[in-house]
Amino acid sequence: STPAAIAAGLAAGARRGLLIKGGAVLETLRLVGLVALDKTGTLTEGKPKVTDIVAFEGDEAALLGRAAALEAGSTHPLASAVLAEAQARGIEPAPVRDAGAASGEGVSGTVDGAALFLGSPKAAMARASLSAEQQAAIERLNDDGKTVAVLLADGAAQGLIAMRDEPRADAAEGLASLAQAGIRTLMLTGDNERTARAIGRDLGIEVRAGLMPADKQRIVGEQKASGLKVAKVGDGINDAPALATADVGIAMGGGTDVALETADAAVLHGRVGDVAAMIALSRATMRNIH
Ligand code: ADP
Ligand code: MG
Repeated sequence: STPAAIAAGLAAGARRGLLIKGGAVLETLRLVGLVALDKTGTLTEGKPKVTDIVAFEGDEAALLGRAAALEAGSTHPLASAVLAEAQARGIEPAPVRDAGAASGEGVSGTVDGAALFLGSPKAAMARASLSAEQQAAIERLNDDGKTVAVLLADGAAQGLIAMRDEPRADAAEGLASLAQAGIRTLMLTGDNERTARAIGRDLGIEVRAGLMPADKQRIVGEQKASGLKVAKVGDGINDAPALATADVGIAMGGGTDVALETADAAVLHGRVGDVAAMIALSRATMRNIH
């Protein structure tokens, strides 16, 4: 019977780490025409490593110490990179007051009486002015596929921390499987245009960059309005609203608790190709019913 076939489909998925929250989701998956994916932690490993530290004021250790202080309370992958580098250099994060995060932009707080901000160049330039030379340094790092965080203190640029996050081993192949199944793919990222294009070129995927969480949600909504069934794949860090708006929200890998709660499905092994496998499973299950 139909309920039995759906139950069998859900069980077959679960055995392969494809967690699908119910029959309605399994039925919708076969209709998906566009898969939108987050970059950091979804198409990439999500384990960026610090590659360059550029101090405009003071030394590298002081810059890293202040950055680490701001990142101590953040769950963002870039925060882990900064904290790991500080630890590797034996730098203790300073105590921070009024710690906060601006989703898709960066983190802030007060350290030693100075009001600090650490985040994307775009967000930094909305809060302070950067010289042409400083902006050129950022662009050179971006063209190497690196993400740059800018540290500001009392509205003045202190320096840069560059990080690189490699694509997941199976990402290009997984995207090719989706294309073979006739499904369009789109990268949605809060990262800057240059870095995102460098990664997008390697993976062969269309890119929309420089997005705020609300922009990702809006784009998912626009694609739905154009008549496509849209799946959104992400780790939930800064993209929970877009996950919730999609016809099918898919949490990647372990993801965050918020992603697992918001999502309709999860790909437990963190393989991009498993999203294609999930859609194939839905098509096969529904073929047996109709
Ligand atoms: P993505 O869409 O690639 O997952 P996010 O929306 O999570 O990117 O973040 C967008 C940008 O905001 C990052 O590329 C980074 O420049 C900045 N950012 C966000 N959170 C942090 C943080 N905790 N530390 C430093 N930079 C951050
Ligand atoms: Mg993110």
